Amino acid sequence: MNDDFSREFSRALRAAGVVGAGGAGFPAYIKAQSRAEYALANAAECEPLLKKDQMLLEYFPERIFDGLELMMRSTGAGAGIIAVKKKHEKIIKRLEETARNRRNISIGRLGDYYPAGDEQCLVYELTGRVTPMGGLPLDVGCVVNNVETLYNAAAGGKAPVTEKFVTIAGAVKTPCTIKVPVGITYAEAVEIAGGLKVAQAAGIDGGAMMGKVITDFGTVINKASGGLIVLPKNHPLIVRKAQGRAVFARIGRSVCDQCSFCTELCPRYLLGHSVQPHRAMRSLLFAGAGRRIHSEFALLCCECSLCTLYSCPEGLNPKEVCVSGKGDLRDMKINFKNSALNTGKASLPHPVREERKVPVSKLIKRLGLAEYDTDAPYLEHGYKPARVRISLNQHIGVPCSPTVGIGQSVAKGELIGDVPADKLGCPVHASIDGKVSKINDKYVEIES
Ligand code: SF4
Ligand code: SF4
Repeated sequence: MNDDFSREFSRALRAAGVVGAGGAGFPAYIKAQSRAEYALANAAECEPLLKKDQMLLEYFPERIFDGLELMMRSTGAGAGIIAVKKKHEKIIKRLEETARNRRNISIGRLGDYYPAGDEQCLVYELTGRVTPMGGLPLDVGCVVNNVETLYNAAAGGKAPVTEKFVTIAGAVKTPCTIKVPVGITYAEAVEIAGGLKVAQAAGIDGGAMMGKVITDFGTVINKASGGLIVLPKNHPLIVRKAQGRAVFARIGRSVCDQCSFCTELCPRYLLGHSVQPHRAMRSLLFAGAGRRIHSEFALLCCECSLCTLYSCPEGLNPKEVCVSGKGDLRDMKINFKNSALNTGKASLPHPVREERKVPVSKLIKRLGLAEYDTDAPYLEHGYKPARVRISLNQHIGVPCSPTVGIGQSVAKGELIGDVPADKLGCPVHASIDGKVSKINDKYVEIES
């Protein structure tokens, strides 16, 4: 480990605005400053239909190895592992060829189950270490980065992040994976994918399981976007995911029979953590309309949605009960550290964890997505947007303040928003050449 290198690399990553590209948006410079034994590159990509991580491995393996090597050097990690599903044999062959010329990097093969890409599940699969409850992979010597984050880190922080890889899948004419300027809309990305195949469409931004329903395709793509699943507006998955708290709490209160399937298949429970969604559901009985949900068993939920979209035989929504419960507990100033769950005991994975893994193929059928389960190959395109809207809040931490004014000319890669140096966050940059046409507290708009 080299402290000078780590300092300089972290500073450069921050300046380049490199954030977690797998959905979280966590500033990469914080991870680069940490100390670890293992640096893990996460390409598990277990979200049904999304393929961008596979495409990155297939088309840009050298760059991902470069990013991983830099992260290893910065954190002092003696071993790097690229985590990919073993079903991707062609990609693995290519990775193994690349690994021959690299030191201390190996390929970690994962089964095809959901959620293989959950950080804590990944760490256990690849190292046999269990992240402590309420802790982070770093607590067991692991730093985990999505492969696209490493792709962006590979330039050593010298190239600002201005582009994003996304998969556009589902009810579009040409499902594909594309690299687009940050700040274009999903409507534009759908056009690159050949346009809609249905008249009345909605989308799930970020993946079928963990993503959010959007009905406005004017939603912009940011540095953490993973892709869009387009579906008919009345598809059961869209209807289910759009359910509001009043509805899922009312139905859950009256229908949940406490079978506990939601808990028995919960990936964090199976790691030995005290997540018990059926007990969070039970708390609905005491939380009448408008009352707070008080169940500490919701605190460590990773929001993977498996309980809601796969496990529950009654079609209930324990995930959203956990999410709402976590919010209510936050309001009550209850967190894991001061909760009754914080016993200090080590977690032991469930003895039948292996047998309870949920195959992605079964999940796809359960979600009603089988007809959309196609390839989404990497597509080169020459699309040049007339306008982009760069969100000032694309990361975890403090939102950016604009550093440009209306009418100002900017070049691609130029700084347009920043956060104070002593706050968590990353700057944002122009993704096209043009003139700043609008600024508000949410975004900077640039017209070419
Ligand atoms: S699986 Fe469904 S019915 Fe069973 S305990 Fe969980 S929420 Fe209730
Ligand atoms: S969403 Fe459900 S299955 Fe996933 S971690 Fe939370 S409680 Fe467990």
